[in-house]
Amino acid sequence: MKILISDAFDPSLPAKLEVFGEVTDDKDRLAEMDVVLVRSKTKCTREYIDQARNLRLIIRGGVGLDNIDVEYAQSKGIQVFNTAEASAVAVAELALALMISVPTRLVEGHIGMTNREWLKKTLKRTELMGKTLGLIGAGNIGTELARRAIAFGMRVIAYDPLLKNHECVDLVSLEELFVEADYISLHVPLTDSTREMFNTETFAQLKDGVVIINTARGKCISEKDMAEALESGKVRAYATDVWNSDPPDESCPLFDAPNVVMTPHLGASSGENMLRIGDMVVRILEDVAQQTA
Ligand code: NAD
Repeated sequence: MKILISDAFDPSLPAKLEVFGEVTDDKDRLAEMDVVLVRSKTKCTREYIDQARNLRLIIRGGVGLDNIDVEYAQSKGIQVFNTAEASAVAVAELALALMISVPTRLVEGHIGMTNREWLKKTLKRTELMGKTLGLIGAGNIGTELARRAIAFGMRVIAYDPLLKNHECVDLVSLEELFVEADYISLHVPLTDSTREMFNTETFAQLKDGVVIINTARGKCISEKDMAEALESGKVRAYATDVWNSDPPDESCPLFDAPNVVMTPHLGASSGENMLRIGDMVVRILEDVAQQTA
């Protein structure tokens, strides 16, 4: 079996894969490969899949499959897998960090100090305790965040039309969540129903001064409408790890908007998670090898 590691995985992975065959990171050899390992950077479009004439398996180290034309791959007999559960803790911890950075005024305080400004009187703080967190999507990551937010004394509700019940949050309608939530955190895949689900029309239905956290996908939010909602104060702060493009264009309206906390798509990138993803890739290859033996 010939395996192409096309994106950044843990450095220990190539050695772990050698039991399955030849391992390379030479993308020019795509046409000979049986297996391709990708994260977000490689886009497995129709054209890409057509070039990979021997391909039998695509494994995405990560959660979504939106960088892979799954239907086309499957129509060519190529199996597609991801490492769905691996990243939940890493992303939930970042979502919590983004959320708590807002009421603690962590970023402004830090920037003030680097500018030798003592903003003790200017930076008014609030607390997470007693506030309502509304999750949009309560799967693996949403659930890990819910557990952590509950430990911080928050009430957690969630809108997830595909779930009938949940272990630790109250499932509510979208309308109820919009009216109740002080903080909203997105944990949905990017689909037709979630693309730009937050826009000027949606913002109008939210509490004044709501805080929105996005570790899901940048395109779930209209960046232009978000910048306007931040300018008007309708949204108090937007804390985001995800963007319309990676990295965002220079012209991204969020760069100049007030009260934005930004990270460069770090959600899944913890060292521990890279190891978990690698272990899951090995397990998938073992299963596939067993099926075809
Ligand atoms: P998951 O599949 O475990 O959970 C997603 C949940 O969203 C499911 O329970 C599903 O029922 C629900 N859902 C689907 N459509 C919905 C809709 N229209 N409205 C409300 N709920 C809906 O996935 P997960 O592991 O929790 O990951 C969630 C998302 O996080 C991924 O799809 C990916 O886009 C994003 N993600 C980001 C990073 C990062 O680095 N920032 C890393 C991993 C995943």
